[in-house]
Amino acid sequence: MDAYRELEGLFKKLYNFNHLLCLGFWDGRTMMPPKGAAARGEAMAELQRLVHDLLAAPRTRELLDTVQQHLSELSTVEQANVREMELQYTREAALPADFVQRKVRAVTAARAAWPACKRDNDFAAFLPHMEQTVGIAREEAQHRSAASGEGLYESLFHMYEPGMSMETLTCAFEDVKTWLPGLLREVLDNDKDAVSSIIPMQAPLHFDRQMLLAKHFMRIWGFDFEAGRLDLTVHPFTGMVKEDSRITMSFNEESYKQCVFATIHETGHSKYETSCGPIELRGQPVCEGRSMTVHESQSRFAEVVIGCSSAFAELATPLLREHLGDQPAFTVENVRKLNQQVTRGHIRVKADELSYSLHILARYEIERDLIEGTMEAADVPRVWNDNMKEYLGLETLGRDDIGCLQDIHWSQAYFGYFPTYALGSMFAVQLMATIKKQLGDDVVQECIRTGKMEPIFTLQKELIWDKGCLYETEDLLRRATGERLRTTHFKEHLERRYLRHED
Ligand SMILES: [Zn+2]
Repeated sequence: MDAYRELEGLFKKLYNFNHLLCLGFWDGRTMMPPKGAAARGEAMAELQRLVHDLLAAPRTRELLDTVQQHLSELSTVEQANVREMELQYTREAALPADFVQRKVRAVTAARAAWPACKRDNDFAAFLPHMEQTVGIAREEAQHRSAASGEGLYESLFHMYEPGMSMETLTCAFEDVKTWLPGLLREVLDNDKDAVSSIIPMQAPLHFDRQMLLAKHFMRIWGFDFEAGRLDLTVHPFTGMVKEDSRITMSFNEESYKQCVFATIHETGHSKYETSCGPIELRGQPVCEGRSMTVHESQSRFAEVVIGCSSAFAELATPLLREHLGDQPAFTVENVRKLNQQVTRGHIRVKADELSYSLHILARYEIERDLIEGTMEAADVPRVWNDNMKEYLGLETLGRDDIGCLQDIHWSQAYFGYFPTYALGSMFAVQLMATIKKQLGDDVVQECIRTGKMEPIFTLQKELIWDKGCLYETEDLLRRATGERLRTTHFKEHLERRYLRHED
């Protein structure tokens, strides 16, 4: 069908433009000298405008309308591709041009002000920006909700996770809320003595050695250094260029954990993004990563589900010795304790597996209420403190630098993003339960222990990677694991690993 072929051509063109946008973004955070920033900003904005104009053009709507009338003439994969084209078009066309410009101005100003406000623990100085970004996000929610018929918060959540209902999200979070704070308290009480038995690492652990260690783990995960690279940034991310995967990581000289886990996390993202199928449609929307939830499920699967297991401590310990030198901290038992250490901490990105989802729960409730209009920006520090007290037993009043100012998301008007972190973590655990059922627990342990993880990757590929955007998220989860997202797997996994120390 001509209209469909024309759409394929258009989306291939957009894919190529996005390739360069991703590289520009990666370069801006890794290599670009400071004086390059202004011109780069202009170049990126110009390219983004071009992408917007092409995607949201009346011609795209016309073509989509024609194709929708002849959908039955297309294959199943092509039909899924059209669904994803519609999604991209609707997202792009939902916002009026003048609103987009106001949004860019508001988030640029908030982004510029945020580091100093965070450093100086000055929420009052950030409040006008926060009011602006909340206002912008509420307005965006109204536009999107009007276009899609969804709820206000839901319409923003669906920007990052288009294929999951609010019901699934709410059920998962409401359930976790009933048992996770108690489990955290129980584990911390039980582990009081165990913590003092952990042998601390001897610093400094030199950067160039940590870099080699990181690359060693990337090779274990099958990372192709002919088709990607590893570099350093303050906040690790993966540049989403499929054919040329740009991983970044951060490190500190006191511990291997930041470098190792950030690298494995980003390698998980990279493996998913570069393997996303159906491969014959590369360059088409159906070949993209499904959603931020599914993306995060693959990174957390690598980083946490595998990386914090006892079997992984057996794999990692000789490698730590090889790259960072022999020292008393590097025994299998001590490395396991280091990797599985649970602490009550204020900072989300440093949180252990057990408390991580509580950090997300606290943020989700705040951003939902902000967008629904039942809470104002000025209330955020107070409610943040209430939530942290309830879920993690921590106070943050007067310490917004380690409280509500710690994350960049809200300064960028990224509302609706946080839940995907926790949902991804839950799904990762559910996926491992399926893989263990298929391969056998012993085989999985052996794969991890020996670093020969191909059987695990093969199943991930078959169940998740190959599918790309063929199915919507909830359908994909059901097909992969035989059931919808269930928090019982998550609970069982956390109890087994942290309460009973059996994993
Ligand atoms: Zn991630």
